[in-house]
Amino acid sequence: MAWISVLVHTPAHAALGPVLTYRSAGPLPSGTLVRVPLGKRETLGVVWQDTVQESSGEIDTDKVREISGVLDTVAPLGEAWQQLMRFTAQYYQRSLGEVALAALPPQLRELSPTQMHRRTLRAQRSAEKSAQTASTSASGRSHHVAAVAVPVASEPAAPSLTREQADAVTRIAAEDGPFLLFGATGSGKTEVYLNCVQSLLTQNPQAQALVMVPEINLTPQLEERFRERFTPLVGADAVVSLHSGMTPAQRLAAWLSAHEGSARIVLGTRMAVFASMPQLQFIVVDEEHDPSYKSSEGARYSARDLAIYRAKLQGAKVVLGSATPSLESWYQSRPTSEGGRYQRLLMPGRIGASGQALPMVRRVDMNHQPRKAIFSLPLLEAIRSRVALGEQSMVFLNRRGYAPVLHCHDCGWKSECAHCSAFRVFHKADRTLRCHHCGFTERVPRACPGCGNPDIAPLGQGTEQIEEQLEALLADIRRPNTVSEAFPDGEPVRVARIDADTTRRKGSLQSQLAAVHSGDVDVLVGTQMIAKGHDFRRITLVAAINPDGALFSSDFRAPERLFSLLLQAAGRAGRDAAWGKSGEVWIQTFVPAHPLYAALKQYDYPSFAQSQLQEREQAGMPPFSFQALVRAEARSQEAAQAFLNAASANARQDMAAWEGWADVLAQVTLYSAVPMAIARVANVERAQMLVESPSRSALQRFLTGWQAVLHATRSQAECKGLIRWAIDVDPLAI
Ligand code: ADP
Ligand code: ZN
Ligand code: ZN
Repeated sequence: MAWISVLVHTPAHAALGPVLTYRSAGPLPSGTLVRVPLGKRETLGVVWQDTVQESSGEIDTDKVREISGVLDTVAPLGEAWQQLMRFTAQYYQRSLGEVALAALPPQLRELSPTQMHRRTLRAQRSAEKSAQTASTSASGRSHHVAAVAVPVASEPAAPSLTREQADAVTRIAAEDGPFLLFGATGSGKTEVYLNCVQSLLTQNPQAQALVMVPEINLTPQLEERFRERFTPLVGADAVVSLHSGMTPAQRLAAWLSAHEGSARIVLGTRMAVFASMPQLQFIVVDEEHDPSYKSSEGARYSARDLAIYRAKLQGAKVVLGSATPSLESWYQSRPTSEGGRYQRLLMPGRIGASGQALPMVRRVDMNHQPRKAIFSLPLLEAIRSRVALGEQSMVFLNRRGYAPVLHCHDCGWKSECAHCSAFRVFHKADRTLRCHHCGFTERVPRACPGCGNPDIAPLGQGTEQIEEQLEALLADIRRPNTVSEAFPDGEPVRVARIDADTTRRKGSLQSQLAAVHSGDVDVLVGTQMIAKGHDFRRITLVAAINPDGALFSSDFRAPERLFSLLLQAAGRAGRDAAWGKSGEVWIQTFVPAHPLYAALKQYDYPSFAQSQLQEREQAGMPPFSFQALVRAEARSQEAAQAFLNAASANARQDMAAWEGWADVLAQVTLYSAVPMAIARVANVERAQMLVESPSRSALQRFLTGWQAVLHATRSQAECKGLIRWAIDVDPLAI
């Protein structure tokens, strides 16, 4: 009989620590997966210390329950994985049980030992079968000697590297990193990743590589390229994906093969940073600036930042890649003499076909266009002439629906949401008013609910309206070279729209993308979804309809995001020599002289970054300071703010008296509570408070100590109506 400590996900209100004591028939190594009773349920747990406190006086032996089973077909989780969980929980201020259990595949949390056992047997049988077929087919691959047994003949075909690429590869091999690979779109960054991973896998028959991408569904080409390249080298089963688009069974299978080491390459989204990979030696974070690496629920972790930590922990190399790095990473990669910690690798040139002049950036001054025009005349002319030449255009606007508001001119009624402090968006396709925050949907009223006026009108534009307008504006021209019987005068121009509304059904994004690739679409309209990642070869014109908003946003990161979005979009234009002779990027703006657009026109990220960093330094904002947000949700705005302000006052009073904490408090600034930009969502009022410090470690210490104060504050009278609160460390949106 042994006492074991087991990590479980205990509910936050249960006042239990996450590590509980159970009885087991014998000792179990740390990291073993077990099923344990918890309250009335049975749940998955992880043995959290190498066994065993002998029955010490502290344990009430009668109350200790026995574990229900051991998932002994799964090897125990390693020390590195456990440490990653400890760090994540501590840094992002969440409970260890929540973080660790959420990091495991959902199906693993449900299966009993017997089910798990059956599953493992099945997996083994199919592995044996595929090993047999492989050995009869001359390559002789088996699970454990995969790379060794592969004959040299199956070396994947790779292009010979350009000078810039070769330099990057050499430095990655020679230096420790972390590396920031700063390379233009089409400079061949992916080829650098492939090359590094390939030499790792050939040199070390056990080594594993983790390749992270922002959204796999948006970039199927990348997954394909990795599979194509590495299947001959390590076998199809050794390249696995991990993302939320997979079924629970697929995710479990992929996770297990990473955990066992038979998966040599894991391609995944942010969740993949938590995959158990005992032989991890190389990590890629592609498009490292992408906001989707930061989780927006639960533990609000940054997979990019955790990748850096994890690489250090496991002695792996890590490469962050981007054409527009986050300002944090850019700043970290300043010269070592100035305190930089990352190695910056430069690849400014574009490869081969796309290596000619970058698309020309043209700014249209909307002050000189007819008022209320959605399309300026020169842009419209440009699109028409591209269409007439058989080339494709891409038009984007970051707002879906037909119009963001419906409005009555007589009484001033607007389509507010009854449950949120926001307007409901007019969707013309199904004639609904839809709240994009709480989902509240109603049919469009026939007349103004305020005064009965039948003439209520849309205000502003969304992608649906852009699509409709373009169809009308291009109705008089025909696509070249297509004379079908149905259209003796030539086929009409085809406008397609890709946004969250048109891609809800599974597979619909893929089929729409395929239509664009095959040339069935002349003009593609969409949200930022279409600006990211796609390799549309025939697009020669990219237009941003109304991007100015970000220049005047209260969010200090908005300009950074806009620059990177526009530059990525520009990268879509003219990627193919046959079509790219004169790629163009159009920007409709009321402030054509804005320095952001000027830097964009020059494709000059470094000077844009420098000016942004100067502003941030003067204002004491990240990366020159470190931030956390506490968000509170309550029945009333007063209660939400009262809780935050009381927790702040309590921090100053109580914590100042703690031994040795005066110094920490002196380095931390707590601002007043304010309503969130959208204060009410689904009838819940939301407020937030910013906490800032020039020292990351002071901020960390403060937050850790403050947790107890926040918990205690909750019971104060003025906080009645508080529903929940949570801390967001290194928040991306303020
Ligand atoms: P990035 O990831 O920087 O956008 P990619 O790696 O996708 O760039 O490369 C852009 C294009 O150039 C791809 O079609 C790729 O196959 C091709 N390419 C990359 N490196 C080379 C090379 N050394 N020789 C020939 N073609 C290359
Ligand atoms: Zn009215
Ligand atoms: Zn709503």
